[in-house]
Amino acid sequence: QAAVKNDVASRAAAELELPPFDYAPPPYSGPSGDEILAKRREYLSPSLFHFYKNPVSPRYTIIFSMLIDIFNILFGGIATVCCGHCHPDVVDAIINQTKRLQHSTVLYLNHAIADFAQALASKLPGNLKVVFFTNSGTEANELAIMIARLYTGCHDIISLRNAYHGNAAGTMGATAQSIWKFNVVQSGVHHVVNPDPYRGIFGSDGEKYARDVQDVINFGTSGNVAAFISEAIQGVGGIVELAPGYLPAAYSMVKKAGGLCIADEVQAGFARIGSHFWGFESHGVVPDIVTMAKGIGNGIPLGAVVTTPEIAEVLTRRCYFNTFGGNPVCTAAGLAVLKVIEKEKLQQNALLVGSYLKERLTALKDKYELIGDVRGRGLMLGVELVADRELKTPAKAETLHVMDQIKELGVLIGKGGYYGNVFRITPPLCFTKEDADFLADAMDLTLSRM
Ligand code: PLP
Repeated sequence: QAAVKNDVASRAAAELELPPFDYAPPPYSGPSGDEILAKRREYLSPSLFHFYKNPVSPRYTIIFSMLIDIFNILFGGIATVCCGHCHPDVVDAIINQTKRLQHSTVLYLNHAIADFAQALASKLPGNLKVVFFTNSGTEANELAIMIARLYTGCHDIISLRNAYHGNAAGTMGATAQSIWKFNVVQSGVHHVVNPDPYRGIFGSDGEKYARDVQDVINFGTSGNVAAFISEAIQGVGGIVELAPGYLPAAYSMVKKAGGLCIADEVQAGFARIGSHFWGFESHGVVPDIVTMAKGIGNGIPLGAVVTTPEIAEVLTRRCYFNTFGGNPVCTAAGLAVLKVIEKEKLQQNALLVGSYLKERLTALKDKYELIGDVRGRGLMLGVELVADRELKTPAKAETLHVMDQIKELGVLIGKGGYYGNVFRITPPLCFTKEDADFLADAMDLTLSRM
């Protein structure tokens, strides 16, 4: 069997033009595949599937039961489904609002929009009180960049290498991975050295990395910039936690250069990191503009930009609007999501279960050479596979192989990182300790069979 696996992996490696796969795992003594599957059937992660527990009609129950077989415990959209799939409170909010008022642009304010904007602003620190709604994370970042340029009168934007901020004209420029850039005009975006503790040249010394921000300001711009944009933990980039001390130092340099600091909370926001509601809070900084999407509506197309009244002024006196941004059905879902996160203590759950899962994954790292790094916070975790720990050679083919094999055990898992060798673990925030055990057991078994 091992020979067959090695053969499959070698063929995958050949396709990707990588060296042949040649890896001997240590002996495995965990539960068998059947035991793991039996466990899955036993509890079926009911918390992740509220709709299953709360069927609306027999027809839907059947459809959803079928979906459970396709879905799996780990897939929370792309970090979107934070309350669990089809949470009844969110579903009810959507249905009720759809019956009441399906659409009116923000030009005609209504309760669904106003109530959510107020609730959202109350979750943010300082004077971050004005909310603009969009339909996606890309739109939110496009808008944030435009606001910063209008407010400062400058054009230059600083963004981190390995960042992902979206795929429209401006945001694709800010995104910094060749795979996500298609013939894009950079338009004033400068990319700085990524403060990546695992692969970066300065290890975990955030202040050293920040010197590059000052260098770019000094040597690449007039000395004044429009904005600095960064995720708190890079998601698409492979769950890269920024080196401690980096953001406070970078924020201070950017502010001195007259720029605004934009926190892209599209993935790390909405309680996902557990220790804090927003990712930037874990770095001890307060941004001028916060952008969000994904978890904000539990998968409903919704995004937002929140800033201060003073900065927002540049837009409110212009004729800016977005037809579907702030659709009342979406904002009603958003309000329900905030209430569920609070009612079900999902932030605390992300912290507790996330820490437990990280411990279990770290134990696997001690067991399997193939795991080069385990990182992240709360339920935003990354497992990076390397063919050689010393050289940190990305184990691309092995990552694909594990993804494929673990699917047999009912686990769909996303991957990312520039080299495509990092498992991105971002399940719904109602993920339980049993779910965590199931995932770790499945990963253990899969790695042992390679
Ligand atoms: N910002 C971050 C950090 C993201 O991860 C993404 C999407 O993955 C975006 C922005 C773009 O969001 P969307 O795909 O909703 O346009």
